[in-house]
Amino acid sequence: MSIALRDVRKSYGRTTALDGLDLDVREGEFFCLLGPSGAGKTTTLKTVAGLERPDAGTVEIDGRDMRDVEPYDRGVAMCFESYALYPHRSVYDNLVSPLRSPRHRLPAAEARDRVGAVAELLGIGGLLDRMPGQLSNGQRQRVALGRVLVRPARAFLLDEPLSHLDAKLRQQMRAELKAIGAVRRTTTLYVTHDSVEALALGDRIGVIRAGRIVQTGTREDIWYRP
Ligand code: ADP
Ligand code: ADP
Repeated sequence: MSIALRDVRKSYGRTTALDGLDLDVREGEFFCLLGPSGAGKTTTLKTVAGLERPDAGTVEIDGRDMRDVEPYDRGVAMCFESYALYPHRSVYDNLVSPLRSPRHRLPAAEARDRVGAVAELLGIGGLLDRMPGQLSNGQRQRVALGRVLVRPARAFLLDEPLSHLDAKLRQQMRAELKAIGAVRRTTTLYVTHDSVEALALGDRIGVIRAGRIVQTGTREDIWYRP
């Protein structure tokens, strides 16, 4: 899936979150949006997911204008930094529910297999019977990421998905995320304020400041810039 934003503007009251943002994410690439807190990263993702409506400008997915397309018809799956899990459902039920919703009902056996595979990949296979309240922050964050990765989406929108993990786990998960992207060739738009993370993960990186993209390039372009 390709994603294109053209001159997108979005304000909250007197705060300008997006100030003429232009962004191109190509089919199958792992694109990192890098910038400081408040730069407009989350607003950008929400605009792509259809959870926020631009005041001006256009969002296109595969060349199609998304203006009148509902969030669940956009083919994207988004992971929020403030991960919301169902507190009264087990980890397994949290992971399987996106696959059993009325709009995307997968056969039970297929749903179970997908959940098992993603849980193994994220190292939470042993936690499936627990309740969210019995997990550490890092484990909860991996479950939230799992809820996104199980979806048969054509693009993943990930908002600081590793921010609550310790350094070792974060490094391990980076490698796994990169591998998932490479195997599935799912377009990934990944938000972070951490330049090490962006350089490690991104096929390309877009630097965002004050609601605009100020630089886009490969890691070499960004890294070696004087
Ligand atoms: P980032 O993800 O880069 O930290 P955000 O997209 O969350 O940035 O926010 C961009 C700007 O918009 C910030 O100044 C933020 O305070 C403001 N903002 C974001 N969401 C809201 C909201 N719902 N109401 C008011 N201001 C908001
Ligand atoms: P249920 O309530 O049936 O368990 P969800 O609340 O997980 O289902 O999701 C309801 C619908 O909203 C889903 O069919 C899905 O298309 C959409 N949706 C939910 N979460 C996300 C997400 N993180 N990214 C994209 N779409 C989502």
